[in-house]
Amino acid sequence: MTKIKKLDIRLANQIAAGEVVDRPASVLKELIENSFDAGASQIDVEVEAGGVKRILVRDNGCGIDHDDMALALDSHATSKIYNLDDLEAVTTMGFRGEALASISSVSRLTLSSNVTSQAEKGWQAQSVGRDMNVELSPTARPSGTTVEVEDLFFNTPARRKFLRKEKTEFNHLDEVFRRNALGSFSTGLSLTHNGKVIHSLRPCNELLDRERRIAKLLGQGFIDNAIHLDVEYSGYRLQGWVAQPTFSRSQADMQYFFVNQRVIKDKVIGHAVRQAYRDVLFHGRQPVFVLYFSVDPSQVDVNVHPSKHEVRFRDSRQVHDFIYRTLHKALADVRPEGPSSDGDTKAYSASLTEGQLSQQGSMALADAAVIYRGDHQRAANGRVMSSAPNNRVGGNFSSTGTQNGGFSSSHQQLYGAGGQDSAAAEALSRPGADGEIPPLGFAIAQLKGIYILAENIEGLIVVDMHAAHERITYERMKTARDDRGIQAQPLLVPVSLSLSDKEADCAEEASELFLSLGFELQRVASESMIIRQIPVFLASADAELLVRDVIADLLQYGSSDRILNHIDDILSTMACHGSVRANRRLSLPEMNALLRDMERTERSGQCNHGRPTWTAMSLAELDKLFLRGR
Ligand code: ADP
Ligand code: MG
Repeated sequence: MTKIKKLDIRLANQIAAGEVVDRPASVLKELIENSFDAGASQIDVEVEAGGVKRILVRDNGCGIDHDDMALALDSHATSKIYNLDDLEAVTTMGFRGEALASISSVSRLTLSSNVTSQAEKGWQAQSVGRDMNVELSPTARPSGTTVEVEDLFFNTPARRKFLRKEKTEFNHLDEVFRRNALGSFSTGLSLTHNGKVIHSLRPCNELLDRERRIAKLLGQGFIDNAIHLDVEYSGYRLQGWVAQPTFSRSQADMQYFFVNQRVIKDKVIGHAVRQAYRDVLFHGRQPVFVLYFSVDPSQVDVNVHPSKHEVRFRDSRQVHDFIYRTLHKALADVRPEGPSSDGDTKAYSASLTEGQLSQQGSMALADAAVIYRGDHQRAANGRVMSSAPNNRVGGNFSSTGTQNGGFSSSHQQLYGAGGQDSAAAEALSRPGADGEIPPLGFAIAQLKGIYILAENIEGLIVVDMHAAHERITYERMKTARDDRGIQAQPLLVPVSLSLSDKEADCAEEASELFLSLGFELQRVASESMIIRQIPVFLASADAELLVRDVIADLLQYGSSDRILNHIDDILSTMACHGSVRANRRLSLPEMNALLRDMERTERSGQCNHGRPTWTAMSLAELDKLFLRGR
């Protein structure tokens, strides 16, 4: 063994830098976060050569006192927490007191700051040598702080080798900038690369201005296709924008989830979001969202990862449940809506009571007080949140359900060849007693046996008849399943499962849940269980695998939607086969009946495969097409 020696300060800091400073983008992240913590209302970023040559962040925040300048560059020195209690309820982005020391150990860093409004009272600091002694000199500058980082990794060749092309490094910088700009609307921000202004964003507090900022950062398409939501429930609040399922992406690259301002990637949250979208998203597509979750800081541990990309929730099951239910409900309400009077953004907001979330089943949020506002612009673009009441099953769908989940003959009467129930169907083809025209209007024709053309107040509606009917049928089957429960059948030869102790305990605890989903499980030994009964729908599925996966979910997330997922898949296929096919001639009353059903059906904006079911073209849009009224 060789002798033990204390590391140089610079070397120790360089080692620490390994954890948090891996490329220019991570430097930018730390610097912007410091500016936020300093209460800046304006943050300007200048970078050169993908940030490798220079990154400068200037803010108008509280500044650093002359006496603290040296400490700011020291490791384990912070103004943000003083004791363990502070750490457990930390509200600042930083608290480790390491960033500036780490960055300055692997670059040429200059810190300048002024806490007064007299420009000549500023100070500038640099740390030099192996011991990183800090040299201070006076400088003239306005109040606030500037950190300039030049020649990143000039003294750490191993790290420098991992740097990519300027363009790639800049893209990472840009992504950090976007995240931060999405995370704090009240701050003005700008980004300049090689002298060229890339972003310039004013502070924004009104919803419309925020949407404008999001459109600048993520594209107008997202905002045009987004549902705004704002839901509070016992200490939790979820706000933000989720894209309609039809506006999905092949990559998970437009997903922003903030927990108390901090953008994070979290397994529990990821699972909750996926689960909420599962029924409406085309297979393999990724949802798009910008969501803000606020929770008491003491309920979340942010000190689990050096760069703080991960968090841990004290009650992750409850958080999962809240996020899943809120998003599920918001997405379920996407259906046609009439034009609205105010030009406000459409929104979904609800205030939940204690009982509503703890209720079993998916209806908890549906019962919540829900406020919607309409929006012209998006009505023209297609699907908007509805103000329709939550009666999911239309009046013409009676409970004459059959074995396969109540997708019954009364259904066929309306869209079937006969049109027998013509009196009732006629009633759906006329304006209401108040002369009101329904959101999807009245059918005027059928095109090529595939599309229904209808006229509403705004103009033309085009409906994909099969896609729409498929969604309606599927939602009905699911409602019937919810109402009547899942039919189960005993296994002729029970399946025995060997599990770990922990898994068996979990499954035993969840036996009621399994039973409600059609599975009967029995524990026969500490590490062994028997499946005695399974749902009829899953007779041909791999019951053992399903149960194992559900137990894994329960252990990890506290909930599982796998069984329902499987059953829904089967219902979805049945709905697809049971729905009106292309080239089926429908009478006008039949078409109108379908339109009215769409207005009443949850998620009727997409078919079961996530394709859109209808679209609108307003008169104004048609006029534009024909260059009318110029
Ligand atoms: P941390 O943010 O974890 O406290 P840093 O190394 O990032 O650690 O910063 C050290 C200290 O320097 C901070 O606690 C803060 O007091 C001060 N500081 C850094 N950047 C700024 C800034 N832009 N404005 C004001 N103070 C700052
Ligand atoms: Mg910091």
